[in-house]
Amino acid sequence: MIRSLVLKPAKERSLLNFHPWVFSGAVGSPVKDISDGEVVDVMSFDGRFLARGHYHLGSIMVRVLSYRQEPIDGDFFMSRIQSARYARIAAGLPSDGTTGYRLIHGEGDGLPGLVIDIYGQAAIIQAHTLGMAKAVSIISEVLSDISELNLTTIYYKNALSNSKHQGVASENKWLLGTSEADIIVENKYKFYVDWVKGQKTGFFLDQRENRLLLSRYVPGKKVLNTFCYSGGFSVYALGSGAVQVDSVDSSAKAIEWTNQNVELNFQKEKPHQAYEADVFDFLKTRAGDYDVIVLDPPAFAKRLSAVNQAVIGYRNLNHEAISSIRPGGILFTFSCSQAVDTALFRKTIFSAAAKTKRKVRILHQLTQGPDHPVSIYHPEGEYLKGLVLEIE
Ligand code: SAH
Repeated sequence: MIRSLVLKPAKERSLLNFHPWVFSGAVGSPVKDISDGEVVDVMSFDGRFLARGHYHLGSIMVRVLSYRQEPIDGDFFMSRIQSARYARIAAGLPSDGTTGYRLIHGEGDGLPGLVIDIYGQAAIIQAHTLGMAKAVSIISEVLSDISELNLTTIYYKNALSNSKHQGVASENKWLLGTSEADIIVENKYKFYVDWVKGQKTGFFLDQRENRLLLSRYVPGKKVLNTFCYSGGFSVYALGSGAVQVDSVDSSAKAIEWTNQNVELNFQKEKPHQAYEADVFDFLKTRAGDYDVIVLDPPAFAKRLSAVNQAVIGYRNLNHEAISSIRPGGILFTFSCSQAVDTALFRKTIFSAAAKTKRKVRILHQLTQGPDHPVSIYHPEGEYLKGLVLEIE
């Protein structure tokens, strides 16, 4: 039997607007005997059904799966996953030139807490909530049943630091096959993706469109790709006529993968150098050597409480790049912290720029690709912010 939570009077507004989170402050009845990860119904104070979702004791108490009283079973997951798949197909994913894409992006696909990335014939699943973690075997069966996906590997990757507070067991396991890595293509470029040893699910698919945009700005230019991970932006720059590309990351493994991906794409020796170094140190001495700089740091603010510290980090980083980049330079600058919203990110870059007294134009305002959709009712889902700046 599905148990119910009753909201305080007049607290149903956000659910009626399809926002997928129920905050603890809105829940009125004392919550007894409901365990974390359980599917519950959320009722209004006057007893109307509002939504069904995964319960977890915490500040977000329910993450909504459905606004109907439908069973949360294999058919439910099949219909959500198929609908997500059709949205990807509409956006041209996958294609002959691009075999890596995100199939499920949490709230954006009506499945809060669930991420599924596809690398060719492999699916990598992450569950950020206990409710989703409990559903993983059903989800895996559904994926296997979709013949168009033609999967030979399903890997559940959940030894993740950000899931611990949700009580999700830290575990990695194969649900189908045993392959650990493969080569994908993205806009015809090849990338070696190691989902076992790699960060997140192995590759940062959310930057696909932004990497393509970088191609336009690099012919004849000296390019610096900071926080390069496996060299995504570097490969595009080298393939689009940059005269020199330097890649920087503090992780030795990232540098190894960057070099490997450069070799994978180009038969002839390319003007590329990868540095294992701290980006903050590197920029201090070298930022003045470049025409184009990419700043794509990891999320500095993983929580709301860390926002102030994160803003200082983004400001220092951008200040260093804006003050030193060559005249007429182009800066691709990003933040993937959900807690730093678009307005705050813009303000942070503004204050970094103002200190340098240089003239700065915004040429593009960027976000994540279409395989990381945002529910219009859940603007928090827009986590990737980017600006392309021209610095006179
Ligand atoms: N731009 C990449 C993704 C960046 S992920 C892409 O398109 O694939 C963030 C990367 O920053 C990670 O590889 C991490 O190792 C690196 N990193 C984190 N802090 C760093 C620092 N202070 N200096 C250099 N690299 C850092």
